[in-house]
Amino acid sequence: MESNYSFVDENLRVIRENVREAAEKYGRNSGDIRIMAVTKTVAPDIVNHAVSLGIDLLGENRVQEYLSKAGSYSPAEVQFIGGLQTNKVKYIIESVSMIQSVDSLKLGAEIDRLAAKHGKVMDILCEVNIGGEDSKGGVAPDKLRELIGQLTLLKNIRIKGLMTIPPPTDSDIFLGKMQELFNKLREEKISGADMQVLSMGMTHDYTQAIKYGSTLVRIGTGLFGARNYSK
Ligand SMILES: *Cc1c(COP(=O)(O)O)cnc(C)c1O
Repeated sequence: MESNYSFVDENLRVIRENVREAAEKYGRNSGDIRIMAVTKTVAPDIVNHAVSLGIDLLGENRVQEYLSKAGSYSPAEVQFIGGLQTNKVKYIIESVSMIQSVDSLKLGAEIDRLAAKHGKVMDILCEVNIGGEDSKGGVAPDKLRELIGQLTLLKNIRIKGLMTIPPPTDSDIFLGKMQELFNKLREEKISGADMQVLSMGMTHDYTQAIKYGSTLVRIGTGLFGARNYSK
């Protein structure tokens, strides 16, 4: 069984090497950059093979798909990275360690309420729509500070940083803007916001994202191959 998935071994080897090289090139410590395996459309057996190779963080972006697969996963940390409706928070609140896609007070408040109910504090990232694209989730950059201020008042969530999916073109500009926003918030030392994680970079732009300070790259296609959307 394992040998069928050897393409994952090779892909992961290349990704790790690229991360190491980019870190070196841009004066970063490669130990400060975490690799997340994004699992959408990928069968649990293949995800588990990646876990056997040392992947310790899975990224889920569809609640239903995650629920159908979670029972088959090998032990690994899971974070939610997709658009999330408030009425679905209850399905993931117990099993994920972080929700990266918080872009409204309404969603943050529901996570806070359910986290309290389960006796936990949920780590979150604020998703920023850095390119101002209609098709994407995320808070507008000029509304970010206000949202963070509101979220810090909620005791059962803990703000850990920012997440973005930048527009496919002009990556450098948008990744650079995210780094600026992130650094500014860090320097502000906002009480209740522990800005440690800058989640940005996907298959097509993760080495560039490392240039601009990413601490968590989210890789799907580059690890598992092209997605099969027909299923
Ligand atoms: C699908 C997805 C990724 C991974 O994208 P690839 O281009 O396949 O690496 C990363 N982040 C989010 C939020 C995604 O939905």
